[in-house]
Amino acid sequence: RLYNEIIELKGNIRVFCRCRPLSSEEIAKGYSCVVDFDPAQDMELQITCSDSSKKQFKFDHVFGPKDDQDAVFAETLPIVKSVLDGYNVCIFAYGQTGAGKTFTMEGTPENRGVNYRTLEELFRISDQRSSTTRYEFYFSMLEVYNEKIRDLLAGTSDQLLKRLDIKQAADGTQDVPGLVEAQVSSIDEVWEILKNGGRNRSVGSTSANELSSRSHSLVRVTIRSENFVDGQKNRSKLWLVDLAGSERVGKVEVEGERLRESQFINKSLSALGDVISSLASKHPHIPYRNSKLTHLLQSSLGGDCKTLMFAQISPSSADLGETVCSLNFASRVR
Ligand code: ADP
Ligand code: MG
Repeated sequence: RLYNEIIELKGNIRVFCRCRPLSSEEIAKGYSCVVDFDPAQDMELQITCSDSSKKQFKFDHVFGPKDDQDAVFAETLPIVKSVLDGYNVCIFAYGQTGAGKTFTMEGTPENRGVNYRTLEELFRISDQRSSTTRYEFYFSMLEVYNEKIRDLLAGTSDQLLKRLDIKQAADGTQDVPGLVEAQVSSIDEVWEILKNGGRNRSVGSTSANELSSRSHSLVRVTIRSENFVDGQKNRSKLWLVDLAGSERVGKVEVEGERLRESQFINKSLSALGDVISSLASKHPHIPYRNSKLTHLLQSSLGGDCKTLMFAQISPSSADLGETVCSLNFASRVR
């Protein structure tokens, strides 16, 4: 409860910035770090531009290269926990390819990210509350590629190719009829499902990594609860979203399929920026329908839903242009 009150005070949209360490390849190539952190506080960073001028950016929290997955999850936990109290929650990772989106959300087997830790925590809390409340968890995984929705948990290749669409349900919320929802009750089950979903992701692509940077990858957890003391029933949704890479394509590559893909990515990322910034400024019209991504998330963005965006950046001088674009995007939605 206390956590929720703290979040309420700060509003429903938070933006965290996370900067990964300079990689050994980047160091070997002689690239330098252009991002500075203020050791006295954790809400500001400074970029050194190529003309030596400085630009400052402020966020709800800034994580530097020394902040590990534990530190990131400690700040994320209050937001994800509120899903068990009936709030809808959306968490996004935004940034250019290679900036650490997947590291933050999925992580690695040794360094588990937000997705795994969140589910682990939700199961732990639901166990703690089992004497008063029964929770059911339903897990889905999907991908939005070129404005088409693919079900990553579809069991057969026929199902995988089936066109999925967004429909408005009787209660006014958005739904994807036919999307597989796997009921899960332990973190081990979730881990198995995540692995299977990951396999489906690479079907039909030359390289899984290539495709992952060109599509939005979404995990949806639907939580149903019933309190047997007061009889109250709740249904809430948690979305964990690893967005497509935000980089602008180089001039030489701008042709054919690659160009089409980038147009779809640009369109959906700017639609997401428009939706979040209209929500932040309390604009009366929220343009959810401008992309599949925002339409899909419509009932989990706005109202008393909680939104967290990770603006992922690279510290390298070689990525300066993209870093400034990402920081500007993230400042706009804040
Ligand atoms: P993206 O998903 O944005 O394309 P990745 O998450 O794949 O980027 O990160 C690119 C590389 O950098 C990966 O090898 C990843 O393990 C590493 N990396 C990213 N963020 C961190 C971090 N905070 N600490 C250590 N390594 C990181
Ligand atoms: Mg990735």
